[in-house]
Amino acid sequence: MSETQKFRVHDLENKKNDNGIKNRYDVIIIGSGPAGYAAGIYTSRAKLKTLLITGTLPGGQLMTTSEVENYPGFPNGIFGPELMMNMRQQVERFGATIIDDEVTRVDFKAHPFLISTNSETYEALSVLACTGASPRKLGIQGEQEFGGRGVSYCATCDGPFFKGEDIAVVGGGDTALEEATFLTKFGRSVKIIHRRNSLRGSKILQEKALENSKIRFLWDHVVEGINGNKKIENIQIKSLKDGKKQTLSVGGLFVAIGHEPNTSIFKDQLELDDKGYVVLKDRTKTSVEGVFAAGDVHDFRYRQAVTAAGFGCMAALDVEKWLGEQKWWKEIQ
Ligand code: NAP
Repeated sequence: MSETQKFRVHDLENKKNDNGIKNRYDVIIIGSGPAGYAAGIYTSRAKLKTLLITGTLPGGQLMTTSEVENYPGFPNGIFGPELMMNMRQQVERFGATIIDDEVTRVDFKAHPFLISTNSETYEALSVLACTGASPRKLGIQGEQEFGGRGVSYCATCDGPFFKGEDIAVVGGGDTALEEATFLTKFGRSVKIIHRRNSLRGSKILQEKALENSKIRFLWDHVVEGINGNKKIENIQIKSLKDGKKQTLSVGGLFVAIGHEPNTSIFKDQLELDDKGYVVLKDRTKTSVEGVFAAGDVHDFRYRQAVTAAGFGCMAALDVEKWLGEQKWWKEIQ
């Protein structure tokens, strides 16, 4: 603990008296994607008293993915939800406490840190932020209104509702290509609307989409508005080449334009960059000593399940090392 960080509990005796301090954990992991679960496996296996608070979508983004083909160890692929359930069981196996709840507030201004959900406040001797990222919104007219009524951010979750429909997908990255290809199983046609004339997604997914006869590309176009009645009926699109506008009849619009980090609870607590990602100071250390971060909450570059899990492992090892270096930690062991 640095000179500048103040102790919430000054009395070391008090720190020792674990039984008398309700809800105190050696480490609290916030988030349950591959980063959080991997971290939980490592910290609980290292005999640190671990609490993992899952967030509103236990298992994170992979719960809304179909088959994961690139996670090592599964030569025939594995479904995202199955992979995450396996990870959760592995965390539980080593004795961590897992709570399906949402963290609404953190206080890193003094130590031990405080982590609050709607119903409870917990004390943490160290914290691991693994809150991941969420789908980015287009921010256009009708997007909110038709959410759940034709506008979706997850093809795996909602694709089967669009049988026989004409579907539009916005984006030019891996997610857009993967979702468009998946949606051809259900839709009559799928149009990928992309703001540029070249794709960002990987070659293999590009090839799959380009070869699929049900998929058409609308290059250099953006979606400007979404209309309908009870559910979505059409979208307004605009060409960025000549400004020409047209109306496209669709029964579904899938938005796949990337993600934003889930860091609202860390505002004013941790240093964030201009896009809201957690800034790491040294390996997995954040701007607050004793608080570590792993996965998509700081990583906007790789954003893979396997890299998130790797970061989770690294952060857990860093937590263990950091705790071991604290004078008060030695005294309470
Ligand atoms: P991404 O790679 O950031 O791509 C986002 C796409 O949306 C880009 O084509 C971008 O256009 C477009 N876009 C962004 N904001 C927009 C806006 N306001 N209006 C219209 N278009 C907008 O995000 P992602 O596809 O979700 O992929 C994220 C990461 O996950 C990547 O690293 C990807 O490789 C990985 N991923 C991997 C797999 C897989 O391997 N199976 C599957 C899914 C995702 P520009 O190109 O013009 O910037």
